Amino acid sequence: MFLPARFCFDESKSVMTWLILEVMAAKRRRKRTNVACYICGFTGADTRDHVIPQCFFPAPPQNLLTLPAHLSCHHRLDEEYVRNLLASFGRDSSAAAAHLWSSTGTVRRSFARNVPLRRSMLAGMMPRVEMFSPGGIYLGDAPAIRFDRTRVYPSLEKMVRGLYRYHTGRLLPREVRFSWGLDEMLYGIGEQTFRYASPGLHYGDIFESRYIVEQENRLEVVAWWLRFYQWTVFRCFVAPRAIDEEGTP
Ligand SMILES: [Zn+2]
Repeated sequence: MFLPARFCFDESKSVMTWLILEVMAAKRRRKRTNVACYICGFTGADTRDHVIPQCFFPAPPQNLLTLPAHLSCHHRLDEEYVRNLLASFGRDSSAAAAHLWSSTGTVRRSFARNVPLRRSMLAGMMPRVEMFSPGGIYLGDAPAIRFDRTRVYPSLEKMVRGLYRYHTGRLLPREVRFSWGLDEMLYGIGEQTFRYASPGLHYGDIFESRYIVEQENRLEVVAWWLRFYQWTVFRCFVAPRAIDEEGTP
């Protein structure tokens, strides 16, 4: 019987041992390749990823949602940058964000440790901006920061993919298109849509969500609102997609 080279030099291993080891290795390979990564949709997930990043919490709760993912898909995301940005917006509205920014908090530590990160955040600081209602009424001013969309939206898309997987048991297709809005005023049909949405995953004053997943006329409509540190709200529409007769997108 032909044996792979790595066994031929070891005469203490019987053929039976080799067979057992091969079967066990094949089982491990099968297990690994059958599990889909919720971020990219491909099989071969080799870790579990926190859908709402652990670093967003001063003390992560035990029940933080995790899903199977590739380590490489998770490592591509700049969640520390996103956490620093959102916690800076929410410092006055969330005790958790204030804690992250305190002298002993992780945001301060990450800025002290990571000089390029600190520089990129400071470069985005802008003077206060004037805010107006949709009808043009002056509402006052608010601090502003210019942020790097390419570092923020991939992490937010990952969260929407994870929340969709958690609430529906299905994966959003890889090629799906996301459309985002930031801190939109709620009025008219936008307000009606938001009020129609169901409450979703919620972690204290750090994260809350509302969502719509509706199937009608062979189309699936998906919308999500993500609110961080009781301040910043990202609205996400997923372009409607055709579904089959069983309701499977
Ligand atoms: Zn992946």
